[in-house]
Amino acid sequence: MMAQYLALKAEAGGDLLFYRMGDFFELFFEDAKIAAQVLDIALTTRGEHLGAAIPMCGVPVHSANAYLARLIKAGLRVAIAEQTETPEQARARGGSKALVQRAIVRFVTAGTLTEDALLDSRRANILAAVGEAGGALAVAAADVSTGRLEVVALGGGVPDGGALAAELARIGASEVIARPALAAKLGGEALPFESRGFDSGRAEADIARHFGVATLDGFGAFTRAELSALGGLLAYLDHVGKGRMPFLAPPVRAGSGDHLAIDPATRESLEIVATAAGQRAGSLLGTIDRTVTGAGARLLAGDLAAPLMDRAAIEARLALVQWFHDEGPLREDVRARLRTLPDIGRALGRLAIGRGSPRDLGQLRDGLDAARALRETLGRLPERPALLDALLPALDGHGALVDTLMTALVPAPPTETGNGGYIAEGYDAALDELRRMAGDGRRAIAALEARYREQTGIAALKIKHNGVLGYHVEVPARHADALMAQDSGFTHRQTLAGAVRFNSVDLHEQAGRVAQAGAHALAAEAAHFEELTARALERRDAIARAADALARLDVAAALAERAVESGWTRPDFADAPCLEIEGGRHPVVEAALARDGAAFVANDCRLDETDRLWLVTGPNMGGKSTFLRQNALVVILAQAGSFVPARAARLGLVDRLFSRVGASDNLARGRSTFMVEMIETAAILAQATPRSFVILDEVGRGTSTYDGLAIAWAVVEAVHDVNMCRCLFATHYHELTRLAERLDALSLHHVRAREWQGDLVLLHELARGPADRSYGLAVARLAGLPPAVLARAKSVLGKLEAGRAKTGGIAAGLDDLPLFAATLVPEPEPAPDPLREALAGVDADSLTPREALDLVYALKQLQQSSPI
Ligand code: ADP
Repeated sequence: MMAQYLALKAEAGGDLLFYRMGDFFELFFEDAKIAAQVLDIALTTRGEHLGAAIPMCGVPVHSANAYLARLIKAGLRVAIAEQTETPEQARARGGSKALVQRAIVRFVTAGTLTEDALLDSRRANILAAVGEAGGALAVAAADVSTGRLEVVALGGGVPDGGALAAELARIGASEVIARPALAAKLGGEALPFESRGFDSGRAEADIARHFGVATLDGFGAFTRAELSALGGLLAYLDHVGKGRMPFLAPPVRAGSGDHLAIDPATRESLEIVATAAGQRAGSLLGTIDRTVTGAGARLLAGDLAAPLMDRAAIEARLALVQWFHDEGPLREDVRARLRTLPDIGRALGRLAIGRGSPRDLGQLRDGLDAARALRETLGRLPERPALLDALLPALDGHGALVDTLMTALVPAPPTETGNGGYIAEGYDAALDELRRMAGDGRRAIAALEARYREQTGIAALKIKHNGVLGYHVEVPARHADALMAQDSGFTHRQTLAGAVRFNSVDLHEQAGRVAQAGAHALAAEAAHFEELTARALERRDAIARAADALARLDVAAALAERAVESGWTRPDFADAPCLEIEGGRHPVVEAALARDGAAFVANDCRLDETDRLWLVTGPNMGGKSTFLRQNALVVILAQAGSFVPARAARLGLVDRLFSRVGASDNLARGRSTFMVEMIETAAILAQATPRSFVILDEVGRGTSTYDGLAIAWAVVEAVHDVNMCRCLFATHYHELTRLAERLDALSLHHVRAREWQGDLVLLHELARGPADRSYGLAVARLAGLPPAVLARAKSVLGKLEAGRAKTGGIAAGLDDLPLFAATLVPEPEPAPDPLREALAGVDADSLTPREALDLVYALKQLQQSSPI
């Protein structure tokens, strides 16, 4: 057995091996130690290997899913080794000591799950493969549970990890794979997987074969890196499924320029689909999600992660949201219907990979039937938005399949096929006959029981059934003697403590009929299940389109619902790079305040080409961060095709969005340092364009006052003069307000506060101009600093301010600085290099040894005479 185990373990490689033994999956050696710790189950030993006891632990097969889920969550992969023959078959093959054959039937990995029990219905589960060819990178991403497949080509090679990280952050994959060499360069981001599938040369043929097409031309022109990514993804799926491929829709190309670019740090900072702690609740998504289906929730998450750059596509989504917004009763009706919809995308995914059940077919039937009804209702309405008209056809055309499934299946088919009973009466006459025979047999047995009671006079006589004896007669022990008699017609089978069991010829005969008819009926049902599955899969692309269309309807109706709930408005788009938000609100902060019964104070933001940088000052806790973020969230919502939390909003499309928070704000999470803050700021200065929107919150805070002020000063100047993007910059460096005199597209704003009867009142209201003073001490009092400390701080402050008055303050002298723009001189052309020029004329192959030596002397002299 050890040899078999070790061979399987070699195949499993670094993955845990679940080794099937009867009703358990057992783990051995290191695997056992890891699993015992993660699962918190007992670690035992079994036998010896090389003189040492073998560590072992195990999980019951019937509850294996729950354990698998926890192992996957802990970042592990599991290879499942099943018994591929029964013990009887093994004995027949190799005698009484023969070992049952086992083989790895599949690998369970985070990115390739399809089981309902292992998946979150409201989250897409994505496997991503990074491909590489000729120095370019691409990502292929598949949701194996529904078959969605997407490829993105990235500009730049491996050194530009930024674009890749941004793309992977948008995709939010549960598992990322790459060739080992590439995986090593990507750090912990990707798991290594060695396969020739990544070879862009052969990938094309592999992909074409998988999709059953002669050429890939119909899918669009792929770059070599994209082919490599797709090829690697297919090879990995083939590996984990041991040849059983999941359903994949034809790949959709998503150019990296199709979406509003949001880098990982910005995603995290804005808490778009998850909070900093990784929770959905409390994120933008968690706060606005009113979808009623799992597929809708998954699509909404995808929309928010990748807002659009195409105005027409955004307007099309908005028009559909508007329609649902204006038509309350219609919205109610559609949402009520969607709420009862099964998840047909995932049902299809399970059927395609061979893990489907009759219930999945039932879900397709019910889902597609509801889709057909929805199409009828919606198609009758006047003045439909264009996007709706584009979606409707996908909801129909499944009539024949639905009708077949309606007649073929019982109303609520089971997830298990073992007991049959899922094919409806009347679908197959032969099956009905088998069932009738089995039923007759069971009735005959019931009749037999009555007859035997009468015949023997034992009222307590029963005919029972169990797995070991099959049908048998049971009587209490005290009545057993009568049946033991030679001529009683009963044969003794088993004596228990209080009862004795018998067989009889009649019973044996009837039982045989029941068993045979039952087995035939089961086989007939299984054949129907396969046939029906095949019929459904013939329409897999169309069913996937219907699922997508239903999800889009759900998202639009849900966004409309959310908009109505809080009085949101439809955003307008302009050509100019403006950002004009009237009465904007932060949906997450507003919801949190509402729970405490407090109201949110709406604020305006009005950036345009002449006033594109707002410097926001004011006391701590005054609402600066909130204001910055709410405007970034409005941009995301608007470009994702949603109404926005504002009275009115007009914006020019944003190409890149950046959000950075000064280091000390983040320190509480123990992650960020001043270094990270500077790296991230550098990325913004390098990437922001005049079409970008940047929010900078207390940048320069993570270091000493002078350093920090100096850096903040220079960053504001660079954003203003070089990037020329729309920007909101919050700072507690009051000194920065002097920049207003020097930078014409910069204006000053502050969050208002008032001291009232010695107490600080934060108004959370934005106003023009700089804050009149710093409220640090007042905030400190609000926070409960002891009066003695406050008094002391007050007198220290007095001294500092008196000193500042004498010297002109910490920003004195800055006024003499030349303008930043004037210091931006273009880099001069490099002077010609005499060494290079001398070398250019040399023909190395024709030099004699003597000439070569002379050349070295000449070069040496040149180098000394021209210092570099
Ligand atoms: P700052 O960045 O100025 O330190 P924050 O933006 O973090 O301040 O806001 C601090 C708190 O003030 C928030 O958690 C919220 O409770 C409240 N707040 C912020 N903005 C508003 C607003 N517009 N209306 C009402 N309360 C607000």
